[in-house]
Amino acid sequence: VAKAAGRNRYSVFTPALQAAAQLRMRLTNDLREALARQQFRLVFQPIVELRTGAIHKAEALLRWLHPEHGLISPADFVPLAESSGLIMEIDAWVFEQAVGLAQRWRKQHDANFQLSINRSPLQFRGESKHYEHWLLRLAANGLAGAGLAMEITEGLLLDSDGGAHQQLQALRAAGISISLDDFGTGYSSLAYLQRYEIDCLKIDQSFVRHLEVGSKDFAVCKAIITLAHELGLKVVAEGVETQAQHELLLQAGCDYGQGFWFARPMSAADIETLLRKRTSSSSDGDR
Ligand code: C2E
Ligand code: MG
Ligand code: MG
Ligand code: MG
Repeated sequence: VAKAAGRNRYSVFTPALQAAAQLRMRLTNDLREALARQQFRLVFQPIVELRTGAIHKAEALLRWLHPEHGLISPADFVPLAESSGLIMEIDAWVFEQAVGLAQRWRKQHDANFQLSINRSPLQFRGESKHYEHWLLRLAANGLAGAGLAMEITEGLLLDSDGGAHQQLQALRAAGISISLDDFGTGYSSLAYLQRYEIDCLKIDQSFVRHLEVGSKDFAVCKAIITLAHELGLKVVAEGVETQAQHELLLQAGCDYGQGFWFARPMSAADIETLLRKRTSSSSDGDR
């Protein structure tokens, strides 16, 4: 019976699995051409200071405009880019775009503006010297380190043999902020929070989604925020979609919010419009 069931399952799933594997292979091949064919875009999502509503930060999020499949989410292609090694080139492109834009926005609109970029853990592997290149590119663009934040995930801190620690230290010494993305979904060893140099925790959206008074998620969020503040870290809540979530986070003392409730990821032109509006309203004395 087990054998029959096994064989049955085999025959049912093989074509689907095969199709999925073929799609992955085709997409990986397309990914090799995507940079040269200028199929990547960056969109930007504001990060809002909860107490004041002020926007001095945004996160750059990658989009792939595939000629046949349309817009492909990074959740789908970043894993392919990582397993094929292409992520190094792609993230280098992201870095260059981000540095140019952050520099422009700080100069033209907001001297305190900070742009956050996501970094694959592969960038920090072994004795990686990428950070030296990044610091040179900042200097060449005239961008202060404070204009940039890098988002890494918990796995990097746990896997690392100490190489990543030293690289993060060098980045922070240059004024770049380090944020721990998707906090709470990884191994959540709290030990590294004091060992590593980190500026900010981003509470994963899975904890924010079901926030309610008295809920376990609210308790978790409050605990994370208290712990972070005790350690001198700032906190961003991800995936804020409702006014109720906004209010609970504010009540819990959370510093920043990011999510559809405040703003969807938008084009660079739309960010500029937003920053320009704010500049003109503040010179009218509205702020
Ligand atoms: P992430 O860094 O945690 O980014 C937050 C994700 O949540 C984004 O998805 C954003 O669009 C989405 N989001 C924002 N607000 C809300 C909300 O209110 N509700 C919901 N349901 N979702 C919200 P996105 O853009 O699809 O990016 C997915 C992941 O891909 C990112 O997660 C990040 O890990 C990765 N990624 C994005 N851009 C890059 C990049 O340039 N390089 C690398 N290596 N990874 C990237
Ligand atoms: Mg992120
Ligand atoms: Mg995140
Ligand atoms: Mg995420």
